Amino acid sequence: MPFWAAPVLRLLALAVTALAVGLTVDDVAGWVLLAAGLASAYAYHLIQLARLTRWLDRSRSEKAGAVPESSGEWGDAFAALYRLRREEQAGRERLSDSLERLSQAAEALPDGIVLLDTMMRIEWCNSMATRHLGIDAVRDRGMPITHLVREPAFAAYVKEAGNVDPVVLKNASPPVRTLSLSMIPFAESGRLLISRDITAIELADTVRRDFVANVSHELRTPLTVIVGFLEGLAAGNVVDVPGLARQHALMHEQALRMERLVEDLLTLSRLENDTEPPREDTVDMPGLLESLREEASALSGGKHLVELGEVSAGSVRGSTDELRSAFGNLASNAVRYTPEGGKLVFNWRIEDGCPVFSVEDNGIGIPPEHIPRLTERFYRVDNGRSTATGGTGLGLAIVKHVLARHQGWLTIRSEIGRGSVFSAHLPRQRLVATHPCA
Ligand code: ADP
Repeated sequence: MPFWAAPVLRLLALAVTALAVGLTVDDVAGWVLLAAGLASAYAYHLIQLARLTRWLDRSRSEKAGAVPESSGEWGDAFAALYRLRREEQAGRERLSDSLERLSQAAEALPDGIVLLDTMMRIEWCNSMATRHLGIDAVRDRGMPITHLVREPAFAAYVKEAGNVDPVVLKNASPPVRTLSLSMIPFAESGRLLISRDITAIELADTVRRDFVANVSHELRTPLTVIVGFLEGLAAGNVVDVPGLARQHALMHEQALRMERLVEDLLTLSRLENDTEPPREDTVDMPGLLESLREEASALSGGKHLVELGEVSAGSVRGSTDELRSAFGNLASNAVRYTPEGGKLVFNWRIEDGCPVFSVEDNGIGIPPEHIPRLTERFYRVDNGRSTATGGTGLGLAIVKHVLARHQGWLTIRSEIGRGSVFSAHLPRQRLVATHPCA
């Protein structure tokens, strides 16, 4: 039945009743009945219309509450309105869920994202962009991006509308970081500004460049010596026999220096590239300490007193070769940086349940400002002394890598002129338990 059928039937019924009253009672009564019927129908519709208007007014302010209830044609209209409202609410919820997911995805990105309009004004940004560029998504909305990122290089980049290579900015204030900013056009005229933290990549690049420069520098000196002598010989600069022997000895020494350097470089590269965990040998520590003592005495050539101090019982789990090489480096450093007559003590003890190998010497010591950098490749406090004693500048870098592969760490205590203590700490789970604290 169409919605108008019921009201029309009601009107017809009213008209027929009013006519019947007019014919049977009198005319006036018929007209009064008709007028009263029409007036009450009009009032009823007015009331329903008022309820609808009030509800529509409130729905604009989101405080509408439930759709009004009624019967008849108004009931149908209100029910249709209720359905429409539910569908619209469900659509809005779906949309806000999608928006929420999109914004969560944007927040999870490791890069900063800024949405810009045609005039390069900020429309929105994620929190990584806030961290990178100091932009506040609410406060800075509508601000031109160039007012907030005030770098001439960036302004030039924006002027080119991003049609050139990404711009690299260095953030001088802490946290110091290097950012790469690139702009991508999207939709009709929008721009997406992406900020990427490339500090680690830059650092790795610098480390690689420094490393190549350092290796070249280390190799150049011995090569210059050898090439110089060989060229002299080729040019017929004949020297006497003792002179030749001296030159030969010097060339041999320089060749050995290069060999040591290449060996250390290979060891370091193996340690750095080995993704496999170290071998799980059972390393007999008291036995290893005794052989380290013998090697250090041989290296010292009787110029130092080399002793074992505290030697706990027990073994550790790890790579025998790697640990021997790391501890051996600490021992040979102690010999090389302790003047003749000095004393070296090797200890193996359990501290707070963790095994610790330490080498104490009463040698030249290290100024405190150098200590944090000693494990960097080619870092030396005294270049001359290191080279003169056959150092490659890579020993402590090797120690650090070996310990890291065994989840251990190195600590250094030192005082200029009084000596140093280098301690290699290993985690307690590497101890093959014979000690009560383990
Ligand atoms: P190097 O081959 O030069 O000895 P290392 O990496 O083994 O390289 O050591 C780095 C630097 O740390 C050395 O050049 C030296 O200046 C300092 N150093 C290491 N061990 C000692 C020590 N026992 N006493 C004083 N200085 C040391």
